[in-house]
Amino acid sequence: MTSNYNAPFGIYIHWPFCASKCPYCDFNSHVREKINHDVWRQAFRAEIERYAAETGHRRVTSIFFGGGTPSLMEPETLADIIENIKNYWPVAQNVEVTMEANPSSAEAKNFETCRSAGVNRLSLGVQSLSDDSLKFLGRRHSALEAIDALETAAQIFKLFSIDLMYGLPGQTLEGWDNELNNALNLCENHISVYQLTIEPGTVFYREKVPEVNEGLSNQLYRRTQEILNLAGLPAYEISNHARPGYECAHNLLYWRGEDYLGLGPGAHGRLTKKSGGGFFETEAIQEFRNPDKWLDSIRTDGEGTQKRYTLAFQERLEELILFGLRVSEGVDVERFYRLTGRRLFDHLKEEKLDMLVKGGFLIGSCSKLRLTESGLRRLNSIARALLV
Ligand code: SF4
Repeated sequence: MTSNYNAPFGIYIHWPFCASKCPYCDFNSHVREKINHDVWRQAFRAEIERYAAETGHRRVTSIFFGGGTPSLMEPETLADIIENIKNYWPVAQNVEVTMEANPSSAEAKNFETCRSAGVNRLSLGVQSLSDDSLKFLGRRHSALEAIDALETAAQIFKLFSIDLMYGLPGQTLEGWDNELNNALNLCENHISVYQLTIEPGTVFYREKVPEVNEGLSNQLYRRTQEILNLAGLPAYEISNHARPGYECAHNLLYWRGEDYLGLGPGAHGRLTKKSGGGFFETEAIQEFRNPDKWLDSIRTDGEGTQKRYTLAFQERLEELILFGLRVSEGVDVERFYRLTGRRLFDHLKEEKLDMLVKGGFLIGSCSKLRLTESGLRRLNSIARALLV
């Protein structure tokens, strides 16, 4: 494994259960009447021990509880996982420990306990501050509950963020303006903004709910940038806006191509190690997606991993470019070299690069490759052009 003790290293924990399934959701989330929390606690403990035996020399810089709804975990499980991570790995003094939470009053009551367990950053799935939209999205909280939860979060956490969605049926530019400005009054340092997309396998897909048309989508996107830029929260990633210094360290680690472990059903990981000729290669690790299968596999085979393989250099290049161009800072040439042992510009189509730079979509320098604002809206086609 790479010996860079100071390189960022994250641990993602996936809690796969929710109180109900939202009609737009295609995440690995399940609704269960009964959950044996002791069994889940033991399973996470076993996975922590297993992974620590391999990576215990790395220093953990971020921990992220995602889901599902990890705020529905028993607080003992949350505390147990954090404590075990701290027992098995050296942990950075300023480690970021994020937990996703829904802004219901029941969950807000646990925020203090979560902080005592070691969580120091909350990511709240508010989605909307309009009761009509929340009802449409099948959310279990009201706008008022979300506001209360945000006020509670502000008293307990220095760092917290909200998720909001645009492109909902009937939404107007003016309505979105108001909603975004209200959100800024409640959460002034970090806002993640997503357009509602209709994903196969969801209730909205089966019901043929239409996506917002391209014209309005572009207007809503532009308005979002204007309002959040003006408020001092520029986009540091396509969907994520933060006051400088308040970016999510864990998510940045993914986009920058650093190493992380994924524990829990369906979680993914990346581990980089030296290969021949001064190069580095990265392994992709994928846990069983089905929660029962994941538990069974740990019980019978001692591990929840379904697949583990070394990425071919072309696959690694694609993910480093695709993820790296999502962030406003772009792909860092030195980091690319540290992670792969290769020079970035040796592997891109030179004539396409020139064309995209001249067209005003890309900015390339000796230290960075990044998208311009108009390039950001065309990320996938630009990445394809550079790589194919
Ligand atoms: S709460 Fe989140 S993870 Fe759970 S069903 Fe709704 S959108 Fe999906």
